[in-house]
Amino acid sequence: MTRLRLKLGVCPGLIVLLLAGGVSAANLLDEICAQYPGRPHSWLEVVNTLKALDEASPRLSAYSVGLSHEGRQIPLAALYAPGTKFGETARLFIIARQHGSEKAGTEATMALIRHLVGTQNEPELNLLRRVTLIICPMVNPDGAERNRRRNAQGRDLNRDWAALSQPETRAIEAAVRMWRPHAFVDLHELPANSRKAAYKVNFVETLGPDAALSPALSGDCMFVARTLTFRANAYGFPLNAFFDDSSDNLALAHRHFGFRHGLYSFLLEAKTGGGRDMKHRMRFHLLGMLTIAAFLAGKVAAPSATASMPLEAQPPRAVSRRPARPSPAPAGPVEPVRTTVRLVSPAAGSEIAGDTVLRAEVTSSEEFSYVTFEIDGRVKALTNTAPFEYRLDWTDLAPGGHKVAVRAHNRSGTVLAQDEIPIRLRGETTQVAE
Ligand SMILES: [Zn+2]
Repeated sequence: MTRLRLKLGVCPGLIVLLLAGGVSAANLLDEICAQYPGRPHSWLEVVNTLKALDEASPRLSAYSVGLSHEGRQIPLAALYAPGTKFGETARLFIIARQHGSEKAGTEATMALIRHLVGTQNEPELNLLRRVTLIICPMVNPDGAERNRRRNAQGRDLNRDWAALSQPETRAIEAAVRMWRPHAFVDLHELPANSRKAAYKVNFVETLGPDAALSPALSGDCMFVARTLTFRANAYGFPLNAFFDDSSDNLALAHRHFGFRHGLYSFLLEAKTGGGRDMKHRMRFHLLGMLTIAAFLAGKVAAPSATASMPLEAQPPRAVSRRPARPSPAPAGPVEPVRTTVRLVSPAAGSEIAGDTVLRAEVTSSEEFSYVTFEIDGRVKALTNTAPFEYRLDWTDLAPGGHKVAVRAHNRSGTVLAQDEIPIRLRGETTQVAE
């Protein structure tokens, strides 16, 4: 730890953010992914790699924050510009692999660590001068060794953050208390074959408007989710965003650190299956981590100027894996295409009594970027991907009348079109466990 109480500290006057000019972001993701050794790291390889990097590099300090139930070290690496003093930078705490079978988070963080230790790219070095990254690539070593979701005691760690009953969650909680980060990120993967509407594509989940939070905190979290959506659009990643409130289950890590610790907090879920290989899933996680890190860097440079973040000004060039959106015919006088949006399901005035998927139909123009779903005036979800759907969490709602709204936005968040319907929630509902 002594190594982390650092020496000298030069702060450059000019902010050159990752993903904004200079370095092509697409190339950057490829450059980082090239660090993937071709097969996933074992727990011992993670620990030994971090030890070796700690000895070799002045940019990294690694140590163990505690032991798993079976006595394996839970490794943590801190990355910073040499000379940084605690308190001079924003601190971003990233965890991966709470679920032992979800390998892409470990590989994305290990590749990012290797890249940041070795790179001479000025944007990344500038980022490290503003943001200290504190990374645990493997929270659940016992589960990882067995390639299974739960820890050695059969517990789902990402349902343990209220109780903190497991050595793994307690170790991370203690490390977060020590590092006092500004933001928290938790990396996961979605099963290939899931019937849940929310699980069809990658998603980010973060803090939404809630009386328990400062509007600035949830507003910034939603801003980052929108920023990530623009970038996901540009890279051809389908993406949904979901927004939590304090009535949600706070036993999940990102909600625990958001609502109880007051951090900017994000869950990233990379979709598996359908030909999405390891590097594809890593790229999504890397895009998420770098977008959040760049947001924090902007905060350091201009504490109250999120709206003018350089990230916003220069989107990356599109590297689309999807077919391009249909565009208007090239010749002749053409009616300008206007965006329209309509809630096609459920029907207005419907009585809801169970799982309900809200579905919107969009006629999109060039400027269309994403759709939001709102319940009673509160934004619950955002998606850039057709079919535009949101599974209504009706267990959160009181019986009686509610308003459902869908809005189509351009990339700066302006509403292009909207639709709103009343629904009724029948009383005496029973929750379906999944
Ligand atoms: Zn998971």
